[in-house]
Amino acid sequence: MLKGKTALVTGSTSGIGLATARALAADGANIMLNGFGDKAEIEKLRAGLEKEFGIRAKYSAADMSKPAEIADMVAATEKEFGSLDVLVNNAGIQFVANIEDFPADKWDAIIAINLSSSFHSIRAAMPGMKKRKWGRIINIASAHGLVASAQKVAYVAAKHGIVGLTKVVAVEAANDGVTCNAICPGWVLTPLVQKQIDARAQAKGQSPREAEIALLSEKQPMHQFTKPENIGALAVFLSSDAAASITGSAYSIDGGWVAQ
Ligand code: NAD
Repeated sequence: MLKGKTALVTGSTSGIGLATARALAADGANIMLNGFGDKAEIEKLRAGLEKEFGIRAKYSAADMSKPAEIADMVAATEKEFGSLDVLVNNAGIQFVANIEDFPADKWDAIIAINLSSSFHSIRAAMPGMKKRKWGRIINIASAHGLVASAQKVAYVAAKHGIVGLTKVVAVEAANDGVTCNAICPGWVLTPLVQKQIDARAQAKGQSPREAEIALLSEKQPMHQFTKPENIGALAVFLSSDAAASITGSAYSIDGGWVAQ
């Protein structure tokens, strides 16, 4: 379906981003990978995508907290592959503390990486998408784009911001063949969440499994994690022709988290 198209997935060296890059590659898209990690491991991922799916894959080391590097990455994608057709804004970080203890530099970093990076990438990608009259922008928000949790002030503010940004982009590009949607996952077991489980286990003297169940049941009626591949499958659907008129929406994939 996406054969001949190119997808850029930010933060795709791990977790949801990697699963989404794999799902888009399986659907035929060429892939620009991005994110931090061990150089040799990333090269293994890149070469593995090419071999497994018969597509072309490149890697950009752009830091999503740096606007100039984001613009360069978008330009490099268009130059390398001829177009940027599917943009998945996924890179994200987390920090947990009460607001009075929340370090200002952590606030700045989370707003930069989880919110402003999407503004910068969309701003750079939009002219090409509008010119070609085809584009899919998918912003990985969170259940925290729709509801709050204590101790996550920067994350919740950034993710609510992403849902708002998604709507504005959708409205602006509505007649240019470009859609923009947000995906709002609940708990997905990735390194980002594993860190929170480990911290809880240590703080409360729980086993990792006890901490895992406690974490899930606090928020989700469904006591199981969403699989990263399921987020990838939703991104593929939102990139399909069947989803051509879906725009400005925030798709929950959260085990019932925000239904309560
Ligand atoms: P992860 O930690 O497994 O992956 C994060 C990715 O972002 C990595 O590839 C990392 O290298 C990259 N990254 C971090 N800072 C970066 C920077 N400055 N520049 C470039 N890349 C950077 O996390 P994940 O759980 O897969 O999260 C991915 C996205 O999904 C995030 O936006 C997160 O908020 C969102 N999300 C996750 C969950 C969950 O339960 N895991 C739930 C809802 C939303």
